[in-house]
Amino acid sequence: MTKLAYFEGRIVPIAEANVSIRCNTLHYGTGCFGGLRAYWNEEHKQLYAFRLLDHYRRFLDSARLLLCKFEFTPEQLRDITLELLHREGWREDVYIRPLAYKDDGIFRLWLHDAADKVAIFTQPYGKYISADAGAKVCVSSWRRVDDTAIPARGKVNGAYVNSALIKSEAMLNGFDEAIVLNQDGHVSEGSAANFMMVRNGTVITSPVTSNILEGITRRSLITLLREELGLTVIEREIDRSELYLADEAFLCGTGVQIAAIASIDHRVLGQGGTGPVTQQLRDLYFRVLRGEVAKYMDWLSPVLSTENALQVLAAKSSP
Ligand code: PMP
Repeated sequence: MTKLAYFEGRIVPIAEANVSIRCNTLHYGTGCFGGLRAYWNEEHKQLYAFRLLDHYRRFLDSARLLLCKFEFTPEQLRDITLELLHREGWREDVYIRPLAYKDDGIFRLWLHDAADKVAIFTQPYGKYISADAGAKVCVSSWRRVDDTAIPARGKVNGAYVNSALIKSEAMLNGFDEAIVLNQDGHVSEGSAANFMMVRNGTVITSPVTSNILEGITRRSLITLLREELGLTVIEREIDRSELYLADEAFLCGTGVQIAAIASIDHRVLGQGGTGPVTQQLRDLYFRVLRGEVAKYMDWLSPVLSTENALQVLAAKSSP
């Protein structure tokens, strides 16, 4: 299988998709990126990419924050991604990474008047948290980047130093992951995932004004929780001490998918595993991602054409 990438306006072998050490973004973190997934359905012989347009809208919003000048539409980026996935021929779950970066070859610091470029590549990717049936979580000693410094609602490369500090501290201290508070002491999110907790049957999640990334998974799960599980979801500020009193809690995001939290700062939540709401939600979410729930098929873009899928099916059934 040839590994490919979208680079400098063309799909090329990935070995040719390289930037110079003089690339601005390499020095100053002045780029932005996305993280998407596509899921393979063995029965349908189909690869389904999840909410491509929503991801690319957010990607272009992040690029706007950074004064990027390129002219892509979400639809164009979706089509490039589908073409790339199609040409690479994935028959398994795959992660998709679009990246916008500034590359003048003279490592200028400023955002405006720079050569803005977009690259996209794909690769298999497992779980962001391996203990996703019950992660041991702490509250980070770091604080989330504030909107007055680096906007967390944009997926800005440089801001991920904050995420990396949070993640490494947690892991080196024997935890799987951390929850980070924002500057005023309210819960923001995980190092690279949004946070939700269940208390007395109600789902609570931090609002978009708590310096969170406006997660596509978070938004999708709010819909599923309300529409399919019939639960009330409240977006409001969460205090640190409320975390300890949750009946269940989980992290959600493209990388993490849905990772149940077993304990926070050594306080065990519920039975210390995957709570019933988390379990029900996860089961439903994975069925949606694999194209098994008709109502949510418009969240998915099939990568293989129907014709192609039929050929695969025919080939499978022939002796
Ligand atoms: N917060 C941060 C900081 C993230 O990096 C991610 C992963 N993209 C998320 C939340 C979850 O966002 P999404 O559901 O769109 O992947």
